[in-house]
Amino acid sequence: MFRITTQALYNLQATKLVNRFCVVSKNKPEAGPSQGHLTDKYTVIDHTYDAVVVGAGGAGLRAAFGLVELGFKTACISKLFPTRSHTVAAQGGINAALGNMTEDDWRWHAYDTIKGSDWLGDQDAISYMCKEAPKAVYELESYGLPFSRTPEGKIYQRAFGGQSLKFGTGGQAYRCCAVADRTGHAMLHTLFGRALGYDCIFFVEYFALDLMMDDQGACRGVVCMSMADGSIHRIRAGYTVIATGGYGRAFQSCTSAHTCTGDGGGMTIRAGLPMEDLEFVQFHPTGIYGSGCLMTEGCRGEGGILRNSLGERFMERYAPTAKDLASRDVVSRAMTKEILEGRGVGPEKDHIHLHLNHLPAELLHERLPGISEAAKIFAGVDVTKEPAPVLPTVHYNMGGIPTNFKTEVLNQVAGKDQVVPGLLAAGEAACASVHGANRLGANSLLDIVVFGRQAANLVGEKWKPGQKQPDLPKNAGEAAIARIDRLRHHEGSQTVAQVRKDLQRTMQKHAAVFRIEKTLQEGVEKVKEIYSRKDDIRIKDKGLVWNSDLVEGLELDNLLLQGKMTIEGALNRKESRGAHARDDFPDRDDKNWMKHTLARIKDAKKGDIELTYRDVITKTQDPKEFDTVPPKKRVY
Ligand SMILES: Cc1cc2nc3c(=O)[nH]c(=O)nc-3n(C[C@H](O)[C@H](O)[C@H](O)COP(=O)(O)OP(=O)(O)OC[C@H]3O[C@@H](n4cnc5c(N)ncnc54)[C@H](O)[C@@H]3O)c2cc1C
Repeated sequence: MFRITTQALYNLQATKLVNRFCVVSKNKPEAGPSQGHLTDKYTVIDHTYDAVVVGAGGAGLRAAFGLVELGFKTACISKLFPTRSHTVAAQGGINAALGNMTEDDWRWHAYDTIKGSDWLGDQDAISYMCKEAPKAVYELESYGLPFSRTPEGKIYQRAFGGQSLKFGTGGQAYRCCAVADRTGHAMLHTLFGRALGYDCIFFVEYFALDLMMDDQGACRGVVCMSMADGSIHRIRAGYTVIATGGYGRAFQSCTSAHTCTGDGGGMTIRAGLPMEDLEFVQFHPTGIYGSGCLMTEGCRGEGGILRNSLGERFMERYAPTAKDLASRDVVSRAMTKEILEGRGVGPEKDHIHLHLNHLPAELLHERLPGISEAAKIFAGVDVTKEPAPVLPTVHYNMGGIPTNFKTEVLNQVAGKDQVVPGLLAAGEAACASVHGANRLGANSLLDIVVFGRQAANLVGEKWKPGQKQPDLPKNAGEAAIARIDRLRHHEGSQTVAQVRKDLQRTMQKHAAVFRIEKTLQEGVEKVKEIYSRKDDIRIKDKGLVWNSDLVEGLELDNLLLQGKMTIEGALNRKESRGAHARDDFPDRDDKNWMKHTLARIKDAKKGDIELTYRDVITKTQDPKEFDTVPPKKRVY
């Protein structure tokens, strides 16, 4: 079922997981596409579950054991061993208005999140998430998540970007609950440990290929491939939850793992469904210069300072109140401006210095041990003595699969939102939209546990354990097998690595921190050309056993689709909002652009995209408790 690397640990888990594995029927595909060799080369195995979760990061694990807890027979599919999911890399923490350091209120957190989103976030989802936050954090604590503590033993909370008290008037909030600078590591291991306590069936190192949709537009499950032997598995389920994370790897320099290739988004697009707000890509101010590895915002939360080549703390000019803790889009733009105006550091004057060396060494040791180590390894810098070289680096996708606050995936039919039956999405893969045009630091770890749990509860409302399911459509999974088969046997002239590199370079250059019509237009043309080369790819390994070339080819399909939607969405949006900063349209334009972009593929071969819009939801969950925050100028 999955590969064994750390023998003892895996053996232990293997018994547990294999025993839970359930084969309902084994059969050959009913009707393969016309290529002669197709039908007799692929073993197809069918399974039936109440629910299938695709992804075993924070969102997927929280959804999966939540489902089992409610009595559902649940499968969780992951291309990685669960604890290798990108959630493990999260450093800074998770926001919740616990009020452990100062007085706090979830409404202030909601206000900050709406302002941070530059009024593109859906306020029903934001008010839901921020109100649920303290409960979610205490739940994690009860699972044994080893939070850093205050001297009195409460959960330690640090300052983070864009967080304020009293609706922006009360100064910096201390709201980010942390486990030193390894919060995601602690969270993912805690959630996986918890999940193993339930009878959840893991398909580890299985690669999800496509959704199985029926004629009525309902999702009936997912088709995936065992990476170990190339067998195809059609997993029929009453509900499918997509929790596959982001697609940071569409860019050349990013903090995301190499596995963040937006596979859930690709599957959604191929099912003919739209994606939302992909033009909003977050650049984190402090990726290590060169490698792109992250130096958490917690560095600045603990007192770190950015300085230019003149030694100036330049953020005082750009954000007089919040300074280095202004929200990420603001700091990334300020850094980029400093560099463009010649005040960058280093021989090429092309990066900025992050100073921690004025902080006590014991504090760095206790609160930021991981980044101290990362700075040593990736920049050769001892942060107790010298500054670290940093640069804004792609970090997070605000956009994703459109959902309502209940995690139900939305289609748009005749201009109206319509729930896609049987399909849910949560975490970075989804767009609820709690982050709008710009995510605040430490709101994603919150998003994944709140909406992972919400996905499980939604199924609880709508489905009964063991409920009878219709037969799968006759051709279920056929297109996915044909895609694999073509990739394996096509004698093209391009390699996966070359096409991917060209896409990443183009996105980095043409959909950067600052954007302008001319470079965006050039980028759109280049990506179009790169997209057209996907049909000319040749992979060397023709086998089905651990064929990483094949898997990377499948991932490339997903990166190309989302890269294309991102840059075309960016060219289309003629305003500046959150992370989308247009030099030629420097202001936010609420009259024309306070709306979500929906992008849908019209012609998969050519990659033609159709863009439409969705209204932003300005109504909160309960206006009596917390009323809508009307748009105003966003200053820090
Ligand atoms: C370096 C770094 C630091 C961060 N720090 C913070 C922080 O401090 N606070 C914060 O709030 N946010 C932080 N973030 C953001 C946050 O960590 C992520 O947005 C979040 O963890 C994503 O969780 P997820 O469950 O949606 O997806 P992931 O954790 O990315 O998991 C995706 C899962 O989907 C599976 N998968 C993907 N494709 C397939 C496929 N085709 N078939 C089968 N399985 C598949 C993978 O195996 C994996 O299990 C950070 C991000 C990075 C990159």
